[in-house]
Amino acid sequence: MEQRDGGVSPIEFEPVTDTDREVIARQLGRPPRGLRAVAARCPSGHPAVVQTSPRLENGTPFPTLYYLTCPTLCSMVGTLEASGVMREMTARLDEDDDLATAYRRAHESYLAQRDAIEPLGHQVTAGGMPTRVKCLHVHLAHTLACGDGVNPFGDETLRWLRAEGWPMGECMRSA
Ligand SMILES: [Zn+2]
Repeated sequence: MEQRDGGVSPIEFEPVTDTDREVIARQLGRPPRGLRAVAARCPSGHPAVVQTSPRLENGTPFPTLYYLTCPTLCSMVGTLEASGVMREMTARLDEDDDLATAYRRAHESYLAQRDAIEPLGHQVTAGGMPTRVKCLHVHLAHTLACGDGVNPFGDETLRWLRAEGWPMGECMRSA
């Protein structure tokens, strides 16, 4: 999956509705900033991940392109982070060349998607990419937005969530 310079088009996500904007404000406890699209939804339909503009309305750079908003997912990922798993994940990057390569590709893909919207003039992405694992909310948001096989630690986080019984409660399809 080599990317050609300048050949990356932004992924087209669903436009944001007024209802989405209200739900996201409740999820975050504040009005969303730089909201560009709903990048993923939980099975019950509420927004799970938003895509945020590389610059907020006031011009402030916002390098985190995909932001996890579902409170259930945020809480569960917080529990996983508190177990110390990020230290172990970062250590595995030194031992597993395939994993390190996949993680660097995740970083490159994230940056290419952001640059396709608006370049920020630097290559800092989010979540510790490409050499450390610092925020699993970022990685899960990346996986939910872009699908399996893009971000190895987002994929691992999603597998852990499913093993823990997610989707559950408000996140579960009610039909
Ligand atoms: Zn949810």
